Amino acid sequence: MEKKKLIEEYPLMEELINLEEVFWFNDYRRKFKDVKNFPVDMEEILEAEKRLENFAPFLGESFEELKPSKGIIESNLTRLEGLEEDLDILGDLYLKEDNSLPVAGSIKARGGIYEVLKHTEDLARREGLLREGDSYLKLANKDAKEFFKDYIIQVGSTGNLGLSIGMISAKIGYRVIVHMSSDAKEWKKDLLRKNGVEVIEYEDDYSEAVKEGRRQSDLNPRSYFIDDEKSMDLFLGYGVAALRLKRQLKEKQIEVNEENPLCVYIPCGVGGAPGGVAYGLKLIFKDNVHIFFAEPTHSPCMLMGIYTKTFNKYSVQDFGIDNITAADGLAVGRASEFVSKSLIDHLGGLYTIGDEKLYKYLYKVFTREGIYLEPSACAGFLGAELMSKELGGLYFKEAYPRIKNITHIVWGTGGSLVPEKIRKENIEIGRDLIGSEE
Ligand SMILES: *Cc1c(COP(=O)(O)O)cnc(C)c1O
Repeated sequence: MEKKKLIEEYPLMEELINLEEVFWFNDYRRKFKDVKNFPVDMEEILEAEKRLENFAPFLGESFEELKPSKGIIESNLTRLEGLEEDLDILGDLYLKEDNSLPVAGSIKARGGIYEVLKHTEDLARREGLLREGDSYLKLANKDAKEFFKDYIIQVGSTGNLGLSIGMISAKIGYRVIVHMSSDAKEWKKDLLRKNGVEVIEYEDDYSEAVKEGRRQSDLNPRSYFIDDEKSMDLFLGYGVAALRLKRQLKEKQIEVNEENPLCVYIPCGVGGAPGGVAYGLKLIFKDNVHIFFAEPTHSPCMLMGIYTKTFNKYSVQDFGIDNITAADGLAVGRASEFVSKSLIDHLGGLYTIGDEKLYKYLYKVFTREGIYLEPSACAGFLGAELMSKELGGLYFKEAYPRIKNITHIVWGTGGSLVPEKIRKENIEIGRDLIGSEE
């Protein structure tokens, strides 16, 4: 369909183009049992979790910060009672604290690290470095490091995926090249360089950085490219979060069933991270979990792609939307094809949020709960707030009394590596914005 016709046929397009905040319930959502469209199954996610367990001794040995958890990279599920009150949340509000995932300080620690480990295992087996029955600790020795020096890992990133891939790959011994888009923050590039990672910068946005990284990597048979737009392994690594969350809910005796719905709000860029998590949760909780993706008003690529069913055909820039936002982790102009096509059956909805609101939430979470989130990671709160009001009723229709039983989980996707100076600046921006309201 032509762009002009698309705008005529899909009324929300005009609001998206005008950078208004939009909340869209996914009209294409189907009952779990009626969905045939599954990119991965539970067995594959379980296998990914098993692989992470196999690597745990190696990770515990390699990273000081992973010693206490014996090499398992996981985050807490934390009740936010202060914010529950401030935001008038109906039901209970929790934060999934991927903002403090070890090693990479963001949700990217799940998919990124998983894919590098999977590739490492494949390579080590193929070259005889790792044999059946060997402990993965073997990969931490000097000879292994020497071996991996001859291999390259490359990735295109708006920042956090680069940090995740860079940290783990450099530790294993690889040569790592991260192709960074123009919106990537200076401190993220500096931190990578300090860890021995080569950073190549682009004037263009994320899609260009990925394209160029992929091209350069394809020229070298010893180079492996981690493809955020297409990778199944990344997706599986993210999906493991769902298994872990299920256990955390059980430990906290939080029930999830028809009467007690689980609503999860996840910030979305290209779609891999929220997609993997969403997918895992759907496989576990089926129709009792309702998943909402949140995007900046300036980068609504997933909402646009699913709502118009054009998926990755257009970028937001094709419609004059600039893809410039303080939420650098979400600054992606074109959605992942496979994620948009497979989640169309599953998502409860998608919405957009303006940058100013991100900063206000950032300030509130910091002052009320003492937790620092980066701007991207604050996008989920608006969903919990709105679903506690009229929108919740509209969504659940005749089952609307259930909205008071909702367990809301906002996915806090990044923040713990942000340097002190930038934290302060962002908190002040939020404070000033809230101050100017009064
Ligand atoms: C990458 C990222 C996301 C979204 O993940 P995608 O796979 O790009 O959709 C959300 N929040 C933060 C902080 C991120 O770095």
